Amino acid sequence: MKKRLVFTRKEMLDMNIQVLLERGVKIEEIADITFKQQSKYSDGVSMKLCLESVEKILSLRDTFHFVQLAAEIDRLVEEKAFRSPIQDILHGDLGLFGIDETLGLDLSGLYGTIGQTNFGDIDVNKVGVISKLDKEGKTDGKCHTFLDDIVGAIAAAASTRVAQVLNEELAGLNENVERISIFDLEEDM
Ligand code: MG
Repeated sequence: MKKRLVFTRKEMLDMNIQVLLERGVKIEEIADITFKQQSKYSDGVSMKLCLESVEKILSLRDTFHFVQLAAEIDRLVEEKAFRSPIQDILHGDLGLFGIDETLGLDLSGLYGTIGQTNFGDIDVNKVGVISKLDKEGKTDGKCHTFLDDIVGAIAAAASTRVAQVLNEELAGLNENVERISIFDLEEDM
């Protein structure tokens, strides 16, 4: 059978949810980070909007590639599939390595530049499930070197989307503007 390289947004969302679960992360835990972060800046943030935003981010093709690659690198490190010294650098989560953060920064900017500052905040303060991943990654046989950044970046991008949606609603309160949002058009992507 011919191998498939491209998938629908629904398929990508489902595969991302599945691989995150396999690696120990529920999408509700990601939405929780988004909620905590965005609630600091806006009133009216709901968990429903945060979860919907996480799902949107997880259905994007770029995100699909980031999530699938990151999860696979961590899994292969746990199976000791790399050669040293990179095996030890990855497993030890060396602070000066930084390629995991580079991926996180890229992903977090998908919905607007503020995603990158959101990512920095989550990365430094190790909010919610990030802290759990950080501790677990230091135990024997476990590696979350890439996953913690990818999860933080998804939460950060979702946080940006929440801000975009709330601002769009705010702008729509003006009776003189026609209410068309980029998020309506998004369904056609
Ligand atoms: Mg990391």
